[in-house]
Amino acid sequence: MTELLGKSLEELQQLITAAGFQRFRAKQLMDYIYKRYIFSFDDMAQLPTDLRTWLKEYCVISLPTVVTEKTAPDGNTKKLLLKLSDGSQVETVLMKQHYGNSVCVSSQVGCAMGCIFCASTTGGLFRNLEVHEIVAQVLLFTYVLKERIHSIVVMGAGEPLQNYENTIGALRFLHEKESFDIGYRRMTLSTCGIVENIYLLADEGIPITLALSLHAPNDTIRREIMPIGAYYDIKDVLDAVKTYYEKTERRITFEYILIDGVNASREQAHELGALVKTFPNCNVNLIPVNGNEHIQLFKPSPRAIDAFKSIVASYGVAVTVRKEMGDAIQAACGQLKVQHMRQQAEKAQSEK
Ligand code: SF4
Repeated sequence: MTELLGKSLEELQQLITAAGFQRFRAKQLMDYIYKRYIFSFDDMAQLPTDLRTWLKEYCVISLPTVVTEKTAPDGNTKKLLLKLSDGSQVETVLMKQHYGNSVCVSSQVGCAMGCIFCASTTGGLFRNLEVHEIVAQVLLFTYVLKERIHSIVVMGAGEPLQNYENTIGALRFLHEKESFDIGYRRMTLSTCGIVENIYLLADEGIPITLALSLHAPNDTIRREIMPIGAYYDIKDVLDAVKTYYEKTERRITFEYILIDGVNASREQAHELGALVKTFPNCNVNLIPVNGNEHIQLFKPSPRAIDAFKSIVASYGVAVTVRKEMGDAIQAACGQLKVQHMRQQAEKAQSEK
């Protein structure tokens, strides 16, 4: 069966004309899926009967099912745990911002990277997501909200540059006028720093924003909290990021998780400021760690966070502290899934 979700207009036209149907039917099919949210071929009344019969026989639109849905008390963050056709589960988060709706998508089931502050990596990497599985995360929110999605952040579970082809394929599709029409400048991809693929991305010709998960001001600390640090030195990662900036002219964001007693001292703030100040156009995003019973790490006090921010800013760098929109619904990547799996395990245990 051919999956239709995530296929471009051109790909659909090729598929349909090769089967002997008229080219313009592809556009109608896309309108049904992405504008009218009709996913059953039987309900696509404008399509001729023989095309609907052929679609039912050879094609499929695979929408994940929603396992759990959580909305933060202020109503601005919604998180879905989705079950894919093979039973794998992924998370996707919607954040209502003042400028519009933003969806944070996952790129893999699990993650191989092993960052100590992240729940997504608890069970390692299970598999890469296909293009249609990344697209479906956005489609589900537009379908539920009947509202336009303004921006995409690839910051959910997984390292997107390890699933390079599918992630970039999904972003290209989401950009298409006939699908979601989301501008590349409203897309952000966060990576822990796969150096070779940052260079590849710089040559893709898609001016998305790159966010580097830096999280440490030196290699020693980075290796302690991010195993990827053993493969790539910060200097090599920053060289790649600089090339990305030079080729795309997109502002670089450095993500920096603040963990009390690990990377959040005043000295480390000075080290970070000195490290990133050479970037002509960058932003440091400080993220107080979202610890829980699985991740025994703690955020610094509000005063210490303010001091850290001021020191980095004194180097002439733009610094923000991330608004903790999802705390109440476990919106840090992987936490809802871990919570659901734990509940299932406890239920199974109690039924023994
Ligand atoms: S922070 Fe990102 S790269 Fe690191 S383990 Fe989590 S999902 Fe993977």
